[in-house]
Amino acid sequence: MEQQIAANIARVRERIAAAARRAGRSPDDITLIAVTKTYPPHLIAMALAAGVGDCGENRVQEAAAKIPLLAHERVCWHLIGHLQTNKAKRAVQLFDVIHSLDSMRLAETLNRHIEAVALPGRQRLPVLLQVNVSGEESKEGFPLPGSIDNRVAFDVFASEVERIAALPYLDVQGLMTMAPYVPDAEAARPIFKMLHIVRDELARRVPQASWQHLSMGMTNDFEVAIEEGATLVRIGRAIFGERST
Ligand SMILES: *Cc1c(COP(=O)(O)O)cnc(C)c1O
Repeated sequence: MEQQIAANIARVRERIAAAARRAGRSPDDITLIAVTKTYPPHLIAMALAAGVGDCGENRVQEAAAKIPLLAHERVCWHLIGHLQTNKAKRAVQLFDVIHSLDSMRLAETLNRHIEAVALPGRQRLPVLLQVNVSGEESKEGFPLPGSIDNRVAFDVFASEVERIAALPYLDVQGLMTMAPYVPDAEAARPIFKMLHIVRDELARRVPQASWQHLSMGMTNDFEVAIEEGATLVRIGRAIFGERST
């Protein structure tokens, strides 16, 4: 099993590098996040032994049971699933980066919990704003206001983002999205392209934030996401195999 996971990771890294080169990008600009949801800690430890330094979980409760078991490892933990405000305090204790910031209320709640535990010189919490580019009702995230050519709607969105970026304990580093699950990864390309455009527009309007990250791409579509500018790819099945749950 250990060898299988190491081989899977090596293969994923090759595919990341090839996609980056196709797009004229450096493979070093792309971070592989091993998505460990549903997989047990002993498998996660194998991925860490194979050199993975970033892991993603989508549920606070599951992460709270697993992360302490791996506390001796050096891991950057990413929360990639929807976060309820009543779990924000626990999330702040467990995670190093939150990809699923999807409302002003959640932003304020996170900010308050970090402030409560802030030590002098403590860094702000890196967060990404999740955007529902596809407009599917089942997807979380800020709805994209029509097209960004719809100035008035986009202004409302941008001013909300500006207020989030002004919160002192949050460090807005970019955007995250999930493409609809489709067998053909090419079908996701317009979604990734749009997230990139929205990021560039927000970077112009809200220059206080750094905007360096685009978290997009999973097992079935990460190469297309990289061609469209992903800096963080979230990959589970290609590393650990199909989930049984
Ligand atoms: C599960 C999940 C992933 C990884 O999906 P795979 O198909 O296993 O690569 C990525 N992002 C989010 C938000 C997820 O929930």
